[in-house]
Amino acid sequence: MAFTFRGGIHPDYMKERTSASVIVSDMPKPERVVLPLAQHIGVPCQALVKVGDRVLEGQKIGDCESGLCAPIHSSLTGIVKAIETRWHPNGTKVLSVIVEGDGTDDKVELTPFEGEIDDLSPEEIIDRAREAGIVGMGGAAFPLHAKLRTALDRRVKTVIVNGCECEPYITADHRAMVEYPRFIMMGAALIRRCLGVDDVVICVENNKPDAIATLRATCDGSGISVQELPTKYPQGGEKQLIRAVTGREVPPGKLPMDIGCAVFNVDTCASLYRAVFRGQPLIKRVVTVSGSAVANPANLLVRIGTPYQDLFAYCGGFSSDPYKIINGGPMMGTAQHSLETPVTKNTSALLAFAENGGEETILDDSACIRCGRCVSVCPMRLQPTRLYECAVVERFDECAKLNVMDCIECGCCSYTCPSKLYLVQAIRMAKRSIPKEGAKK
Ligand code: SF4
Ligand code: SF4
Repeated sequence: MAFTFRGGIHPDYMKERTSASVIVSDMPKPERVVLPLAQHIGVPCQALVKVGDRVLEGQKIGDCESGLCAPIHSSLTGIVKAIETRWHPNGTKVLSVIVEGDGTDDKVELTPFEGEIDDLSPEEIIDRAREAGIVGMGGAAFPLHAKLRTALDRRVKTVIVNGCECEPYITADHRAMVEYPRFIMMGAALIRRCLGVDDVVICVENNKPDAIATLRATCDGSGISVQELPTKYPQGGEKQLIRAVTGREVPPGKLPMDIGCAVFNVDTCASLYRAVFRGQPLIKRVVTVSGSAVANPANLLVRIGTPYQDLFAYCGGFSSDPYKIINGGPMMGTAQHSLETPVTKNTSALLAFAENGGEETILDDSACIRCGRCVSVCPMRLQPTRLYECAVVERFDECAKLNVMDCIECGCCSYTCPSKLYLVQAIRMAKRSIPKEGAKK
């Protein structure tokens, strides 16, 4: 089998600046953390604390009764200074709990489990994933307990652990695989136990040979295999990964579980291990800080809620004026406008770029030259040029017929377009507009 998918691109990966940077785990505590009560797909949490309360590191401060909610825990011990709307990395203002540190190290932890994995029932694993507030850490931020519950009900047969990290610049998962492979392997084993599956495979692109070697040595004899995949963007997309590993296609409009597969990020697995066997809720994560405007790029273990400015300051500040700051990778990340915005559970990278000499210039009168490049690179076999034409004239019904909802917003079409059209932006707008159109009707 070729272990790849149709389409995709080969951007300059630019990972060398941080791929050998050991994760910094002793960053100074921030003075305050900003904890949005919505850090997951689903129903936002309600605050469980009020202004003036003293909260401990690891204390649950937000939760709700919905099955699609992941609790929020304080990442700092201190006083709740405010509960108000603050900027979220997604570009909206979200109700957030602001905790000002009091300099102490008091903390609360969940009760660690001290037995063997096989002593845990699926329900116990799901409950512990929920109590720890774990979400998909590769970017989707879907509550882990909800995904495990659905996968269990749907009798998933294949579990894929995603260590591809195909976005340029980001090396957080790469370093995690090299530095704590056992946590990832044990987390994958917990998921295997929870879902009762035999087939668990950790997938890594071949531009991370040290991670592949370390994971293979760690997983030897565990029944969990490690699959090396060709380096190609977006190899880490769920549907692309399933196609590459199993040869099976997820049909349009369907989900991986519809064909018996579930995909989990490597750091999500490590967080599950920490929650179950160490009693640690999800209050820290690894973030790659990189880009041409960053003085000393690094991989940092960061308390969730830490403002961006603290991360850049730790990395020596800016070597030149940042022209653009992005939360996530350059292909699918979100441009940011405030350095006070906090790191959230799914922030894998923070990138700052210097002025790039006009490469971004887009001519107002640029037009499609019918070269077909966007069609040939689209990993979802869509027609980006046609979707774009319909989206810009607000023919969202046509977009729907052309399966716009299957677009994974990977940006391959925009990347490859010689006319530099805003393809993915227009397609994204169409996707957001379709539910509204339906509601109007
Ligand atoms: S149409 Fe969507 S899935 Fe296809 S290349 Fe463009 S952004 Fe990616
Ligand atoms: S890549 Fe750009 S110019 Fe070429 S067909 Fe697609 S939209 Fe048109």
